[in-house]
Amino acid sequence: MGIFQEAQKYIVGGVNSPVRAFKSVGGEPPFIKKGKGAYIWDIDNNKYLDFIQSWGPLIFGHCDEEIEEAIIKAVKNGVSFGAPTPLEVELAKEVLELFPHLDLIRFVNSGTEATMSAIRLARGYTGKDNIIKFEGCYHGHSDSLLVSAGSGAATFGTPSSPGVPKDFTKHTLLAKYNDIESVKKCFENGDVGCVIIEPIAGNMSLVPADKEFLNELRDLCNHYGAVLIFDEVMSGFRASLRGSYDIYEIEADIVTFGKVIGGGMPVGAFAGKKEIMEKLSPVGPVYQAGTLSGNPVAMAAGLAQIKKLKSNPEIYKSLEKKATKLMSKFSDISKENEIDFQYNMVGSMFGFFFNSVKPKNFDDVNKSDTKKYAKFHNEMLKRGFYFAPSAYETGFICTPMNDNDIDNTINAFRKIVECIRG
Ligand SMILES: *Cc1c(COP(=O)(O)O)cnc(C)c1O
Repeated sequence: MGIFQEAQKYIVGGVNSPVRAFKSVGGEPPFIKKGKGAYIWDIDNNKYLDFIQSWGPLIFGHCDEEIEEAIIKAVKNGVSFGAPTPLEVELAKEVLELFPHLDLIRFVNSGTEATMSAIRLARGYTGKDNIIKFEGCYHGHSDSLLVSAGSGAATFGTPSSPGVPKDFTKHTLLAKYNDIESVKKCFENGDVGCVIIEPIAGNMSLVPADKEFLNELRDLCNHYGAVLIFDEVMSGFRASLRGSYDIYEIEADIVTFGKVIGGGMPVGAFAGKKEIMEKLSPVGPVYQAGTLSGNPVAMAAGLAQIKKLKSNPEIYKSLEKKATKLMSKFSDISKENEIDFQYNMVGSMFGFFFNSVKPKNFDDVNKSDTKKYAKFHNEMLKRGFYFAPSAYETGFICTPMNDNDIDNTINAFRKIVECIRG
């Protein structure tokens, strides 16, 4: 019996997060033994160039020495206290220093917790229950966010998962990404406490928002007295040091973080203006808590990574250069072979679509050829290139990935392109 079969005997579906089961691309997931730099090895000693990097957190690749040392040092002092430690204060300072519009932060253990808590806080602050989210944006798996469009956009959502009461999702309005008219319609339904958006959407492959659209969104939130939440769990410290802020210079009221902020350990955070954040317990009445929140080992990892990013801000340019080379060559090769191919990249993030038009929203993304993506995935994996097992995910470049790695990936793509065309 293979380990995936054994895993399924004990763990639901053999995995602890569904995308890992490879359902949308077929085949079996390799079980990973170790990673170093840009590479991972599975238990059969197959080596892969890793474009997932734990879904974003490992911007310096696997087993970065400074981060590893910081973790080991923290472990030796005790792994958890459930009491405040100086590491939390230091990480809070390092993060807030980057964002002049964010005054206070709260650390949690995952991106899901960060967005869920940010929404509760926004509702508590405004006293308004309705929220607006966008089709194709993912904000974790809390009840009010597991929503799909009802009939037509700009309507109240319906649960996208059994177990989510309709009564919860009736407060979630769904708008279309990059479509300000759909947002206006949602606001006209009234009682909107907050808008949550990925300003650089990384969960429908990669679709950055238009600057004009985000500016209008900011204006609408001001006009209606709604809290604007930028979910930068993926884009924070990934798209650039300050995430979307460096790119759009738009000030959200609350920003959520995850992934990179934990240096590979389970950390999430939400930060915002003082006036809003002080509504949070123990200062204010909006309840939020966590036994392991601010865990010293996790904080040490996050702190080492954020400090390293802050002292090496030039890495984003070189990461983007590599992403650009990868994507533009994939595009050239596809064109030569009459395959529709579109791509986006922002900093170290990249996304591509087997699609004749460049997607602006979720409907566009859904017109991409996912069968082609599955073939791409299978063939690249066989050749030692580990891409996301779903056409709806973003890819990541890490600093140890060198030009040779990128060239090898391009050459492999050239070899499999016939097979993708089918
Ligand atoms: C990954 C992600 C989340 C959820 O974070 P988890 O740590 O998986 O709970 C939320 N929002 C965005 C934008 C994400 O990419």
